[in-house]
Amino acid sequence: MRDDNCIFCKIANGDIPAATIYEDEDFRVILDLGPATKGHALILPKNHFKDICEADAETAGKLFPLAAKIGAAMMKGPGADGFNVVQNNGSCAGQTVFHLHVHVIPRYEGGTEIVTWKPGKADAEELARTARIIKEAL
Ligand code: 5GP
Ligand code: ZN
Repeated sequence: MRDDNCIFCKIANGDIPAATIYEDEDFRVILDLGPATKGHALILPKNHFKDICEADAETAGKLFPLAAKIGAAMMKGPGADGFNVVQNNGSCAGQTVFHLHVHVIPRYEGGTEIVTWKPGKADAEELARTARIIKEAL
């Protein structure tokens, strides 16, 4: 379940060194080379999945508890005041490395704004129509 051409497969399995903050049988958690804030971490499964839709339920089910553990350590260690859990799927969503990963980004009071969007507007009819389209695709 590894892809020889995938850099995150190599990092996750220890073939390329990275600043590792946690490792177990299924995951390696490293610091991002281009951190949004101090301590920005990436949770990498050791098996290769392109994105969250490809991941098996067991792997996907372990990601949130691990993100919580890493986020709690960011608050306890480097003194973050909160953290964002971000996971990009598809290039239009900002995914640049096509090996499933979860960003855990510590946030510090007074720090720069990240992970924001400008709220749009939608009326009840439009929301109902969009909800129906998505429900039918489940
Ligand atoms: P994405 O945009 O795909 O959600 O996130 C990819 C992340 O991986 C980026 O934040 C980028 O800085 C980080 N990254 C890319 N290549 C490497 C690498 O070789 N080592 C580490 N530690 N981070 C990387
Ligand atoms: Zn991979």
